Amino acid sequence: MAYPNTQLMIGGQWQDAADGRSLAVVNPANGKEIGRVAHAGIADLDRALAAAQKGFEQWRDVPAVERAKIMRRAAGLMRERAGDIAVILTQEQGKPLAEAKIEAMGSADIIEWFADEGMRVYGRVVPARNLTVRQLVLKDPVGPVAAFTPWNFPINQCVRKMSAALATGCSIILKAPEETPAAPAALVQAFIDAGLPAGVVGLVFGNPAEISNYLIAHPVIRKVTFTGSTPVGKQLAALAGKHMKRATMELGGHAPVIVAEDADVDLAVKAAGGAKFRNAGQVCISPTRFLVHESIRNDFAAALTKHAQGIRVGDGGADGTQMGPLANSRRLTAMAEFTKDAVERGASVAAGGERISDVGNFFAPTVLIDVPLEARVFNEEPFGPLAAIRSFNTLDEAISEANRLPYGLAGYAFTQSLKSAHLLAQRLELGMLWINQPAAPWPEMPFGGIKDSGYGSEGGPEALEAYLNVRSVSIMNV
Ligand code: NAD
Repeated sequence: MAYPNTQLMIGGQWQDAADGRSLAVVNPANGKEIGRVAHAGIADLDRALAAAQKGFEQWRDVPAVERAKIMRRAAGLMRERAGDIAVILTQEQGKPLAEAKIEAMGSADIIEWFADEGMRVYGRVVPARNLTVRQLVLKDPVGPVAAFTPWNFPINQCVRKMSAALATGCSIILKAPEETPAAPAALVQAFIDAGLPAGVVGLVFGNPAEISNYLIAHPVIRKVTFTGSTPVGKQLAALAGKHMKRATMELGGHAPVIVAEDADVDLAVKAAGGAKFRNAGQVCISPTRFLVHESIRNDFAAALTKHAQGIRVGDGGADGTQMGPLANSRRLTAMAEFTKDAVERGASVAAGGERISDVGNFFAPTVLIDVPLEARVFNEEPFGPLAAIRSFNTLDEAISEANRLPYGLAGYAFTQSLKSAHLLAQRLELGMLWINQPAAPWPEMPFGGIKDSGYGSEGGPEALEAYLNVRSVSIMNV
């Protein structure tokens, strides 16, 4: 399927930037330009804001049940089109076709869950102290939303924000990733084809800092939502605070994987190893710090090394590829630097550790063992196909290490002891914990971090609350 150029979506119309600017989109598997994406300027943003305000005034008055019908139609279209959309997504982002298809299909589940949940946005009737009074708690959509999403899951990151906004009656302007613009555009197209009124969803690309500075400060925008790195999240949260805008921040993580003495090692390798190299490790909940009990350290390291060495790396569009290239050359440089630093500090490379081929952003699935705590890879989010292993002796020691970093997004643990499972659930400072299983970020469960990994949730009923104002109204019978 031919890769499409991507325009801006403003007021229900696909259009070029007013000044005609555009950016190149590159296939990370071969470095070749495959298309262009329109680069919005301030004039385009002003039109997108006016359209979002108009769209909000219309959409908030559409009953939830009708909103849900349009959302379900969009979900159906995403399922029908998932095969074609996956081809586009793989070309711009690099992930294997099978992963791209799961992302496109998964978006339909997310849309449907939020469509249904939107019909259950209830207020309350609170017993009054005076019987001639009715005390009501009302929930209303917060207003036009500005959403900033990254390139690792171009569809998934947009669809969670869009679905929560649309289900609650908000309009939304998406600033989707310039590296991977066509898959988010296909998602927006599905909603338009499903009958979403003009202006309810806008899609822009350009200079991320220029767009976020302009949109967050603008009086039309009532809510900000961002997924990306912690440093950028802190800047945007500060800006949102300055302008008193509601904010949801889904930021970086450094997921510990605790493999206890009594763990099922095969399960741990299969679950955490699979999760580690999915999307070439460019996942905010990717397992990164493998903390393995000393007694099974050698077995675990050998099995994870074998797993990593068996992964077929290549163009995501080619048959049999299990791991694609990194999405951009910045990640390639980062992987080489993390590895070099760890080795200089005493770690050994058990698998990978280097770039594969001079063409494309391919980095071998890498396992580092005996990684010292001071190594950069044990402190900064690697965001790539690096598994760093070190051993521990007591569960308390592993818990302290897991909680040592300011991040608190996701974590994993493997143990057959109910007592240890409960202790870990109580003590690990994480927004999401999966025990004896791979990550399962279903839409009905809260998704988000604590500490420097951000605040707010992108799943469960909490995700809708983030887009709602709560108002208290008392009516006296006179
Ligand atoms: P980056 O920090 O420059 O950008 C991360 C994302 O934020 C990108 O999508 C970018 O377009 C956007 N961004 C950057 N500055 C912005 C601004 N001022 N306003 C609005 N958006 C802005 O890093 P990068 O090199 O693109 O990605 C690498 C790092 O980003 C990783 O180490 C990881 O921590 C983080 N990241 C996290 C996620 C996630 O799912 N949480 C996804 C992608 C990237």
